[in-house]
Amino acid sequence: MNSRRDNGLAGAERVVTTICNSHCGGTCVLKVHVKGGAITRIETDDGEEPQLRACLKGRAYRQRVYAPDRLKYPMRRIGARGEGQFERISWDEALDTVAGEIQRVKKTYGSSSILYWVSAGDGGALHGVWRRMSRLFCLMGGYTRPWGLHSYEGAIFAELTTYGNALVTDTRDNLLSSRLIILWGWDPVNTIADTNTSWYLIKAKEAGIRIISIDPRYTDTTATLAHEWIPIRPGTDAAMLIAMANVIMTENLQDQAFLDTYTVGFEAFKDYVLGVEDGIPKTTSWAEAITGVPAATIYRLAKEYAITKPAALMAGIAPGRTAYGEQYHRAAIALSAMTGNVGIPGGSAAGKVWSIINLLRMGSGLRIPPNAVDAETPPPKDKLPSRSSGYVYGHGAVNVFRLTDAILRGKSGGYPADYKLFYLSSSNIVNQWPNSNRVAQALKKLEFIVVEEQFMTATAKFADIVLPTCTFLERNEVLTGLLPPFYGYRNKVIEPLYESKTPLEIADELAARLGLSNYNDKSEEELLRQIVQGSDVPDYDTFKAQGIFRVPLPLPYIALSKEISDPANNPLPTPSGKIEIYSQQLVDMENPKLPPIPKYIETWESVNDPLASKYPLQLITTHCKRRAHSQFDNIPWLREVEPHAIKINTSDAQDRGITDGAIVRVFNDRGRVIVPARVTERIMPGVVDLPQGAWYNPDENGVDRGGCCNTLSKDEPSPGGALPSNTILVQVEKA
Ligand code: SF4
Repeated sequence: MNSRRDNGLAGAERVVTTICNSHCGGTCVLKVHVKGGAITRIETDDGEEPQLRACLKGRAYRQRVYAPDRLKYPMRRIGARGEGQFERISWDEALDTVAGEIQRVKKTYGSSSILYWVSAGDGGALHGVWRRMSRLFCLMGGYTRPWGLHSYEGAIFAELTTYGNALVTDTRDNLLSSRLIILWGWDPVNTIADTNTSWYLIKAKEAGIRIISIDPRYTDTTATLAHEWIPIRPGTDAAMLIAMANVIMTENLQDQAFLDTYTVGFEAFKDYVLGVEDGIPKTTSWAEAITGVPAATIYRLAKEYAITKPAALMAGIAPGRTAYGEQYHRAAIALSAMTGNVGIPGGSAAGKVWSIINLLRMGSGLRIPPNAVDAETPPPKDKLPSRSSGYVYGHGAVNVFRLTDAILRGKSGGYPADYKLFYLSSSNIVNQWPNSNRVAQALKKLEFIVVEEQFMTATAKFADIVLPTCTFLERNEVLTGLLPPFYGYRNKVIEPLYESKTPLEIADELAARLGLSNYNDKSEEELLRQIVQGSDVPDYDTFKAQGIFRVPLPLPYIALSKEISDPANNPLPTPSGKIEIYSQQLVDMENPKLPPIPKYIETWESVNDPLASKYPLQLITTHCKRRAHSQFDNIPWLREVEPHAIKINTSDAQDRGITDGAIVRVFNDRGRVIVPARVTERIMPGVVDLPQGAWYNPDENGVDRGGCCNTLSKDEPSPGGALPSNTILVQVEKA
């Protein structure tokens, strides 16, 4: 709601209600104070509970809008790729050049040589998604769009194979009906994972619900909410889950009636778990040797989970961001089904702990025509057939984590095309894609790169043309959020600063230069109206004035409740119509690393890898509270909150003569990083944590002084498509 108030000083101050959504896991209300056309401060929701309260990043957004390093005008590169030397040019020159290069590359090499990628950035239904540029490129004859999601491709794989549906998360209020909550590799106090997740977990704790946290780190979530912390070696979570299944089977504690009614393949899983299949019973002792978790702890947790009903196994997505991370998610779902906790109040389907986007719907503003390049390219062998079902980032011929290799090797490497032009929107791929040094090498090979950005990121330094976009406070947008479910109207607070433009303006002006007269004949306002018309919002103008429409839905929403309460009329969209603990779809993929039942498969770069003699520490790359991926890393207020550092256990630090705050070198065969060390007992021995998102900044020797974790990560996806960003071996030593 927009209101005006006199603050007693000269001139009136406006307070504009708008919505933050910064690829952070949240969607929160900002009350932005504006005076004389400038933002003076930012407050947040202070209304009725549950409030949609902003985190520190949203509250600090004023420093982002007015950051001295904002990109102010279009620029052309004048130095070598990556050097960051640019000169100012006009918008006309910039857009003429981009349009000319798109036409040249299409004519010379064909549409498949054009790549487009966008990250969520500050997402929204009009400016912030694929739609805008996908429409433009599809109208031109298509483009290569990679498939795969960095955040939770392993979870999607598991959900599609096991449930046939990748939207199987409950609303958080369902936690209040639980008797036991297991937070598996999940730190929502820092990562948000939907606004109000922590609020509901606090209420659960206050209600006396037992909370257990399984994580290599003693996270802020563990410290504030959990009754028990169980540290576990990264990449071994599936082994612990499978050993828990062994306890439940051995003691006959499974919910057999549930298994008989709703699942297929339990017997095959049982044969594997009990060792009938391969002669190796997956006992708690077997798992202790792999995970580092004492056998007695695994036994106790298995019994507690099986006996306490309902119980919510909240399978965080970080353990799935490992080599064979799909198996962790498949095993978690199998365990949830074995205990009959799927689709019931207080249970959990053990799906990814992320937004339930199927609760809310929007109309489409700009329609995307079929992509001719997708149609002419055969689906890759490593892609789950149901992955092309239209779910976000599902289409495309190349897994996004193979794209670096695809750019470097092209057709001669077996990829569908030789890639020549890359158009990137709000996507800092040098920083955020695995193996930063190799991504940088790949970008040097391309003929033309365009980057739409707000800052001179590591990726923008490789662009031929940089186009400055405005922040979300400088444009109108609509979006959805949880929890409670709502539609948000993101009111423009101030006019775009400097020469920055909205993403839609850029697309409109490019389309005109490309001769796409049918691209868009509507204004931003008309398109937003059209999007809102396809939603549950009753009246656009009231919605726009109030900034928020809370959806009167019956809550809690329990995923798969229909399928469980009335299975005859609601079969699951799997081939069998049931929960597939055994998947014929996986048999048909003929990949031994994608077995039809959930299995523990030892990761590459595990503690048993011969490489561990050289690089003995397991690196995890977590999310910290002061960044949303690589966003906000340059914001002074947020830098004060938590200095960037690698966390190392006291014993590992002592072995290396490293003291708290000492500058250390972190390295492996892929790269070297120089950062301060944070010596702490809050991470288990043998594991180090370099939070992701710090800005890649290599010196003249190629040593990254910015502390970017992807300088060290491997650009090889897991067989099911998961990003193994928590499967990395490194060594740490005093610099
Ligand atoms: S950054 Fe995310 S969690 Fe923080 S205020 Fe914005 S939307 Fe909310």
